[in-house]
Amino acid sequence: GVATALLAGARRSAQQGIRIRHPAVLTAATRIDTVVMSKTGTVTTGHMQLTALLSARHGGDQDAEPSLLRLAGSLETGSEHPIGRAIVAAAQEAFGSHSGRLPQPQNVRQHHGMGVSGDVEGHRVIVGRQRFMTACGVDLPDAVRDLLTEAQNHGSTTVLVAIDGAFSGVLILSDTVQESSTEALEVLTRLGVEPLLLTGDNEGAARRAAAAVGIGTVVADAPPQEKVALVKTLQAQGRAVAVIGDCVEDAAALVQADLAIGRGVDPGGGTTADPVGAGITVARGDLRSAADAVLLCHRTLRTVR
Ligand code: ADP
Ligand code: MG
Repeated sequence: GVATALLAGARRSAQQGIRIRHPAVLTAATRIDTVVMSKTGTVTTGHMQLTALLSARHGGDQDAEPSLLRLAGSLETGSEHPIGRAIVAAAQEAFGSHSGRLPQPQNVRQHHGMGVSGDVEGHRVIVGRQRFMTACGVDLPDAVRDLLTEAQNHGSTTVLVAIDGAFSGVLILSDTVQESSTEALEVLTRLGVEPLLLTGDNEGAARRAAAAVGIGTVVADAPPQEKVALVKTLQAQGRAVAVIGDCVEDAAALVQADLAIGRGVDPGGGTTADPVGAGITVARGDLRSAADAVLLCHRTLRTVR
């Protein structure tokens, strides 16, 4: 019966950490025709691995040269970003298992969608994307540009490190697609929703993830303000847009969306923070939860009507 269907749906969504925040969301969910999703931690697992580290030796004195991984690891200690967590994990593996072994960073600033900056042991350290380096006035040798292009064409995520204003190295990371993503996309497609991958990561990494799960449209290299602009453009074309993303990093795009499906920050207590007032929050943040939430809205309305 009706009650059983609703209960089953509610129980399933609760188990998956899906929260539908208010009744208006049900209607909004059935109207969307486009779903814009972020890559890292949504389509992919977000459990990134540091696969290679290339250090540019400058100044000649190798003993005096501060270790790239140690400085980058220290700077990323407080980062929630999958890239930061992968760098910290690799640094801890190399320099000791507890974070006490990494120096304490000072004046740390997270630049969402760009990177992180701060001071470590008297050195000014910057870790982030190419665009961030350029914005910070760091010059890149041509050979490095070629290497980045090569790694990115293979689907890797690349991050640059600058120490005291000079380019110092490249970190290469990999991520894997979540198995449930393909299934989730099938669900969304069946509901008549067109998927679009929108990421701050590079084109190569984005295309690789998109191809693995069957997403045809990719917008890569987009900083947070470009993510919002894309949502606005789609809306101006008359589309009803759902955004699936991180409540912190993708906050602006979520606020702009016709339906916001946000991955909340779950501090462990099972209560999911919702800093953007998302209509739907999902604790796990995978695509499957998001697709199930939309499906649940469809089913609920059909049942109630
Ligand atoms: P996505 O859209 O895939 O979630 P983000 O917008 O979170 O990507 O990040 C875009 C890019 O900004 C990353 O690919 C990386 O180059 C850079 N970046 C963001 N946060 C960090 C960080 N903590 N450390 C290093 N690089 C970062
Ligand atoms: Mg992100």
